[in-house]
Amino acid sequence: MGDANDKRVAVVTGAGRGIGLATARRLAAGGRHVVLVDLAQGPLSEGKSLIEGDGGSASTAVADVSDSAAWAAAIDHIAREFGRLDILVNNAGITRDNLALRMSDEEWDAVLRINLSAVFYGMRAAARHMMKGRFGRIVNLGSTSGLVGNAGQANYAATKAGVVGLTKTIARELGGKGVTANVVAPGFIATDMTAVLPQEIKDKVIGAQSIRRPGLPEDVAAAIAFLSSDDAGFITGQVLAVDGGLTMC
Ligand code: NAD
Repeated sequence: MGDANDKRVAVVTGAGRGIGLATARRLAAGGRHVVLVDLAQGPLSEGKSLIEGDGGSASTAVADVSDSAAWAAAIDHIAREFGRLDILVNNAGITRDNLALRMSDEEWDAVLRINLSAVFYGMRAAARHMMKGRFGRIVNLGSTSGLVGNAGQANYAATKAGVVGLTKTIARELGGKGVTANVVAPGFIATDMTAVLPQEIKDKVIGAQSIRRPGLPEDVAAAIAFLSSDDAGFITGQVLAVDGGLTMC
């Protein structure tokens, strides 16, 4: 495979750090051209350099995925630039944790906008290009919080459960067009998002796992890489937990 036009093109949101960056690196190592998307250019440029240093192919796009019109325009631009769009990983996400009775409307709305609405906006825009190519792999980031609930995360758990229903619906609508859609649901993964948690909470979660270590961004990236591969063409509407045996559901 030569330049980007010969390669499958993968768009990864929230790719400036954490699970998104690990996923972008993993997909690029697997021969995809990866478009890293995040809110600021600095981390994206660093990610692109890392990928190119490893011999991979990457480009960057600054976008707020919760801005429906701007994000759809960015996706159309990417598809036009490369003449294809094969893979979309909806990874960008935020937390605004609080006990439900204390949670403000702002905390609720912010998480819904980015973790749920943006996933819908991205899929709606990307699916048109995937259908044209009669090939698509959509992987959305869920969470074990969305599968079993988590005190302090009413907003976050609601969005991650919502992502499951949304993904299964898209999977039903697009299966005949060669497009699959699946959810990867991480448990506790050591990233900036979880770095703020008190050590006793981290120890409690790890103690409840069958595999007693923190998950790594690379553990999640490996699952995303499989579900976005050509080999995974008969798998759709599934939820794959990457949680060290925390939930087993
Ligand atoms: P992170 O906070 O380290 O990284 C998230 C990235 O998303 C950041 O670079 C951020 O700038 C970007 N982002 C946020 N809002 C955005 C927006 N509106 N537009 C574009 N980019 C935006 O998070 P992470 O731990 O790597 O998590 C990645 C995904 O995995 C999230 O969806 C998260 O909910 C999910 N997840 C993480 C864990 C965990 O333990 N870390 C567990 C379960 C699920």
